[in-house]
Amino acid sequence: MAMRYRVLQKTYKQMVECTSPYIHGLGLFCRRDIEAGEMVIEYAGTVIRSVLTDKREKMYDARGIGCYMFRIDADDVVDATMSGNEARFINHSCEPNCYSKVITVDGQKKIMIFALRRIVPGEELTYDYKFPLEEAKIPCNCGTKRCRKTMN
Ligand SMILES: [Zn+2]
Repeated sequence: MAMRYRVLQKTYKQMVECTSPYIHGLGLFCRRDIEAGEMVIEYAGTVIRSVLTDKREKMYDARGIGCYMFRIDADDVVDATMSGNEARFINHSCEPNCYSKVITVDGQKKIMIFALRRIVPGEELTYDYKFPLEEAKIPCNCGTKRCRKTMN
């Protein structure tokens, strides 16, 4: 897994790009055939303690910066706002073609995005954000048949 991770640092840009002529707004798109189970991209960023997320969100809000965070587990969160890569633009879907998994490389936790099935050039990459259930619902507009209508 660690070796696949290192190879990916040099090759992921051949696999994905941020633009599409068909969709407005941001997303991540496939550039070459991606096989099921293939490691696609790291959700890069800075690992921070969970307790710091509220403070950081408020700071970004105050400066008008869009905030991108991904929870690893109860203790740690990856903050991709200032140090992320293209992975932070991957949209949520209730019927995704990718999934996220935490791997450990040299003792560091990394969030990796893997292909759930074969993906062809031009397809948008998506994964299920798996937000915890909350009273205040975030509407989902993923447009798939199995859409749950809310992201949380
Ligand atoms: Zn949906």
